[in-house]
Amino acid sequence: MKTLQSYVEGRWVAGSGQGRPLYNPMTEELIAEASTEGIDMGAAVTYARTRGGAALREMTFADRGRLLGEMAKAIHSIRDELLDLARINGGNTRGDAKFDIDGCTGTMAYYAKLGESLGDRHFLVEPESQQLTRSPRLVGQHILVPRQGVAVHINAFNFPGWGFGEKAAVALLAGVPVITKPATSTALVTERMIEVIVDAGILPDGALTLITGSVGDLLDHLEGQDTLAFTGSSDTAATIRAGQGCVAKSVHVNVEADSLNSAVLGSDVDRDAEVYDLFLREVTRDITQKAGQKCTAIRRILVPESMMDMVCDDLKEQLQGMPAGDPALREVKVGPLSTASQLRDIREGVERLMACTVPVLGDGGRGNLVGIDNDKGYFMSPVLLRAANAREAAAVHEHEVFGPVATVLPYSGDAPDAIDIIRLGGGGLVSSVYTDDAGFAEAMVMGMAPYHGRLTIGSSRVAEHSPGPGTVLPMMTHGGPGRAGGGEELGGERGLHFYLQRTAVQGFRPWLEKMFA
Ligand code: NAP
Repeated sequence: MKTLQSYVEGRWVAGSGQGRPLYNPMTEELIAEASTEGIDMGAAVTYARTRGGAALREMTFADRGRLLGEMAKAIHSIRDELLDLARINGGNTRGDAKFDIDGCTGTMAYYAKLGESLGDRHFLVEPESQQLTRSPRLVGQHILVPRQGVAVHINAFNFPGWGFGEKAAVALLAGVPVITKPATSTALVTERMIEVIVDAGILPDGALTLITGSVGDLLDHLEGQDTLAFTGSSDTAATIRAGQGCVAKSVHVNVEADSLNSAVLGSDVDRDAEVYDLFLREVTRDITQKAGQKCTAIRRILVPESMMDMVCDDLKEQLQGMPAGDPALREVKVGPLSTASQLRDIREGVERLMACTVPVLGDGGRGNLVGIDNDKGYFMSPVLLRAANAREAAAVHEHEVFGPVATVLPYSGDAPDAIDIIRLGGGGLVSSVYTDDAGFAEAMVMGMAPYHGRLTIGSSRVAEHSPGPGTVLPMMTHGGPGRAGGGEELGGERGLHFYLQRTAVQGFRPWLEKMFA
């Protein structure tokens, strides 16, 4: 059994005492443990803040972009090993693992290029200066400079690769050292990624710290120049937000939390339209990919009342072609859930949903598993439910069941009705509309935009190019209001702003022009 290590103050250390266990979710075998007991979190923060921060701020965006490019290459060089670890520790099929690992390197490569395009600068200048009085000599200009603290990144269990990479790439490019803490239960992938980056000697000392195991008192050491980006459940987010550092010292916090993402089928769509196939494909993928453990996965499927039977039948057929089982097998499309507690939570969640819906497929059990001949493993076959009345199915709009589970809900076919129902979810990461009617698409976008961080419009015109709503792209923002945590990550250069202080500088025009040239 492996003992996971943390990388703090430029060296690998294992915590003392009894570590927290990590399991293989298919066999339930204990594969590793992780502890942070005895690790001095205050010293780790100071080391990163002083050494790592100073070294990164010496560099330009172009320099830091080059480092990201090297990190992406180093991680890619052990891709097969990481894909295996994602299966062993996360229950990922090969496709699921690629989504996570290649998502990480792809995002790093994107930010490497952005660094190159930002060039040999140490800070950003907003485009236009403002004349502040009648005199043209006095102007104001906004600049964005790296914060002189650390970026603490706390991630969820479902994306140990991408979760690390998408946050670290942005902070490092901004010039801020990273302390990354993966969810303990699936930390093997992140630990190995950091190991290969450290071994390759890519980053300056102190630029990257890894905490594997409990966060301990890490957050108590944060101050006003530090940033904290959290991804996980709303409950943990609430605890973190109420913490001493965040409240008393105005630590800059970003939260990515739960989301009851929706997909809406337009009433204009015929069964033989290309957009209908796209709708079926994307809903099916979101229910099954990563066994539904995706923050962006579609949970609520809104369908015009008259099309409910047809859509439920077609989705059922599609899902029956996505068997659960041993994630090492090519024919298996749904691996086990990542942990025993995940399985327990999801079973409870399915029961809650079933109190206000009827099953179309699945019942929260293991179903017929491919390649599994024992009762081990945290398996659940896909579950599709349907409600007779969308507004009366309260649990569907309140409770995120973080597994291969979704509910089909009827609506009138009119945009205002669909928007009204979607808003019951309290704000989300992403919503998708499937239609060939530009007017319907526009009405949906305008009604849903205030409640979402991202919207995708699927139509026959883009059907063959669509990455689907579940894919987060580095050039588009990721995050959402309300239940989704109110955060914003990525989005190209916008993502850097979280790690930069925007400062309004007012003074003599020629001086400012010279300073910010
Ligand atoms: P979680 O239980 O909230 O844990 C998330 C992270 O917080 C883990 O690293 C965990 O560490 C850490 N943590 C737990 N208690 C903490 C505390 N008191 N102080 C500081 N850190 C603490 O969530 P999860 O089960 O891993 O993830 C599932 C949830 O994440 C779902 O609700 C999903 O919607 C959400 N999610 C959202 C996004 C998004 O981008 N919006 C993406 C993925 C997942 P330990 O593992 O060591 O306990």
